[in-house]
Amino acid sequence: MQKKLFSELGLAPEILKGIERMGFEEASPIQSAAIPVLLEGADVVGQSQTGSGKTAAFGIPAIQLVDASLRAPQVLILCPTRELAVQVAEEIAKLAFFKRGVRELPIYGGQSYERQFRGLSAGAQIIIGTPGRVMDHLERKSLKLDQIKMVILDEADRMLDMGFVDDIKTILRQVPEERQTVFFSATIPRPIQELIKTFTREPVSVRMEAQALTVPAIDQVYYEVDRRSKLEVLCRLIDLEDVKLAIIFCATKMMVDELTEHLIARGYTADKLHGDMTQAMRERVMARFRRRAVEILVATDVAARGLDVDDIEVVFNFDLPHDGEDYVHRIGRTGRAGKGGKAVTFVAGREIYRLENIQRFTKSRIRRAKIPSAEEVEGKRATAFAEALRETLQKGEYKRHDELLDSLLEQNYSPTDIASALIHLLGEEKPRGGQAIPEDRSSSRNFPDPGARERRERGRDDHDGGGRGRPERPHTGPREEAGTVSHEPGMVRLAFNVGRAHAVQPGDFVGVIAGVTAIPKGEIGAIHLQATKTLVDVAEARVDLVLKKLNGIQFKGRKLAVRPAAEGAKKSRAARPA
Ligand code: AMP
Repeated sequence: MQKKLFSELGLAPEILKGIERMGFEEASPIQSAAIPVLLEGADVVGQSQTGSGKTAAFGIPAIQLVDASLRAPQVLILCPTRELAVQVAEEIAKLAFFKRGVRELPIYGGQSYERQFRGLSAGAQIIIGTPGRVMDHLERKSLKLDQIKMVILDEADRMLDMGFVDDIKTILRQVPEERQTVFFSATIPRPIQELIKTFTREPVSVRMEAQALTVPAIDQVYYEVDRRSKLEVLCRLIDLEDVKLAIIFCATKMMVDELTEHLIARGYTADKLHGDMTQAMRERVMARFRRRAVEILVATDVAARGLDVDDIEVVFNFDLPHDGEDYVHRIGRTGRAGKGGKAVTFVAGREIYRLENIQRFTKSRIRRAKIPSAEEVEGKRATAFAEALRETLQKGEYKRHDELLDSLLEQNYSPTDIASALIHLLGEEKPRGGQAIPEDRSSSRNFPDPGARERRERGRDDHDGGGRGRPERPHTGPREEAGTVSHEPGMVRLAFNVGRAHAVQPGDFVGVIAGVTAIPKGEIGAIHLQATKTLVDVAEARVDLVLKKLNGIQFKGRKLAVRPAAEGAKKSRAARPA
């Protein structure tokens, strides 16, 4: 099934704006097929699974259809469960964000009638309800169906399984004849066929064609991950498998932006690709990825289409793809030229059902894997560190520091004490990963990552601002001795009285500055974490605002003191005895 751009589907500007705000880049196959047909006024029978984007496939035309000046129910969506009703209502609310005067209302059993009466008398036009509760309201005459223009049965087969068939028939008999009727169902068993025959007029059938696709012979695994832990698990996997070249797929542009920022803040050389970037920006990113100057590319499906890079070790599905077809396209980026590759998919909550569909569609097995513990990552790092150390010792290619070491030995420190303290210092350098996830509380990080320096240096050669679209200005990056003056024109370096010792990450500074002052993130530049302070570059025009708003507030359990870095340097030089 073909995919289209939303702009090709005949949608009103305010609806396109709502879609844009949600970060959808292109219509999913079911949306591409169903939206134009529904906008033309035809009845539709859609056969598609959860996760295919079916809610927006009927939700978008429904919103477009609503006459916002008429304060009466115009669209009725029937769902099998309260969870689904709430979910559908939320999606509709987001899509209708820019269409003024449109109100949606979920009505389901278990919620107080009062609230639902209020919503109904306030003039909600899109009613999303479970059949039982809709019947109750009809009996109480609190819900009127005489202005209904469209009825949608979402997950019709499930509603039937749950015994709602009579309720559905009763409801459908009460809506005006002149209306559109839409059925969405994963399967179309006989009783549904009968309902369709009775209640629709020449329905257009849209279904996801199951295409025979060949899945490359690669290792496919999935992890069941709570949404909030995805980032941590991702970092662990990258660290554990020492991934050097990977693509991470996210569902939306926002997610791509966010994840890229998090990865950069944790010290990975990551960059991004999505539809909001100009062609020139995209080409620059792809060139850097091909040169291996970027180790991780975070992308949406659209942006990564046509990306042709060999030797990608792992494809991560940070968000589950819409359908089997997208899954196959995504994972086909690894395991090129007969080389082994790996596809890792994160599955949150009920998404497991979507994964089962994908497995059926691709006729391949996706193995469940166990989330590595922080200790395993640490153990692997320790081994790698020991190997790197041994190699350096064998090669003998290092500068000797006999004098310093002799003096420490003379002070009665043992060689093991000294070496351990050194490892400790080295380990502290790294801002990557290392947070607890709900199932394990350990987050110790004792060993430095021997590959990190090499990676950072690679990134330093031609860092592009980590995909933030701001060339040559990484928020974070290799730790270096930062001076008190910014290297960037128009930026002023500020010193914050919080540093690595207070367990802060570079991203925390971006968060607090942007959060408190509302200045765009683009006006915050390089961030240099030091032991007890941090130097942050801020656009000159914003310095006064940052000093005024941030001084004295609580941050990481401390009272924040911020001042221009150069000022502090002058003071401390003046204070030093001659
Ligand atoms: P559904 O099949 O309606 O349950 O949708 C599954 C998820 O996909 C929801 O989180 C939607 O917000 C999201 N979604 C729907 N359409 C698109 C699209 N065109 N692009 C990206 N995400 C989408």
